[in-house]
Order: sequence, then C-alpha cells, then structure tokens
Amino acid sequence: MRVAALALRGADGSIAVAFEPPPLLACAMAASLADWLDRSVQPLARGYFGKDLMNLRVGGGQECRRRNRASAGPVSEHATGKALDIFAFTLKQDGAPNPVSVEKPAGLVQSRFLEAVRQSACGAFMTVLGPGSDAAHANHLHVDIQQRRSQASRFCQ
Ligand SMILES: [Zn+2]
Repeated sequence: MRVAALALRGADGSIAVAFEPPPLLACAMAASLADWLDRSVQPLARGYFGKDLMNLRVGGGQECRRRNRASAGPVSEHATGKALDIFAFTLKQDGAPNPVSVEKPAGLVQSRFLEAVRQSACGAFMTVLGPGSDAAHANHLHVDIQQRRSQASRFCQ
C-alpha cells in the first residue's frame, strides 16, 4: 500500500503523521511502523521536545534492488516493501516545522532523541542500520521486518 500518513495518539487526541514522499510498503511493514511511531517515537517526541510528530522524511520504500544497490549479492528487503529509510523526523512547531535530521542532529537534545528513537527501533524491527553502522547508511535510519532464522536474532547497529 502507498502510505501517505498514519494516525497516532497525540497530546490532544488523534494526530496524522505524514510520510514525505509517501512510500509503497507491505501491509505488515505499515502496521509495524504504526505501532512503533505510536508507542515509541511520538512519546519520545513529547518527552524530549514537548511537541507532536508532524511528518517523516523518508525514502526507499518498495524498490526492486539488491542490498546497498550492489550489482550482485542478496536482494534488499526494499524489494519486498518490508523496509523503510528515514532521513528526518519533523516536529510540529508553532512557527516553522522543526526537522530532526538523522544525519546532522542540531544539538545535544536532538542527538539524544535520535539515540532513543534508534534504540526503540531495535525492539520494533528486525534490522536497524544508521549513521555509524556503514557508509551506505550514514545519512538515514534503515528499518525492516525481514524474518530471521530465530525471532530473537535481530540485527541492530
Ligand atoms: Zn534501506
């Protein structure tokens, strides 16, 4: 499905968090994302900034390719729509929207927010890769729900 926005619990009732641009995702991935945003990311945004989430800048929903765009090797989870790349989390501000860039957080609070978001993603998804894991993931957070041999084996860097 093409996901334009997901409804989450905000400070004053339901809020719609938009995806820009709207990615094509497997239903199971959209459900995992909705759970994670509702249970973890939105509460963290409230806790760190006192603001609701407004949108996510994303890339790489469904896209038929191999891992890291290599010409050989295993097929990427992006090929099945079970993966998403997140470049920024934007918070609702009174004036201009306030993006928290995964690649370049502005200041300590944004850095700590991103660390907490990343840690929570490790519980919600099977694979989490981001800045510091390898060069291909220096500017975004990759999350996917690829099934591994055992439920307990997750890949989180
Ligand atoms: Zn990715």
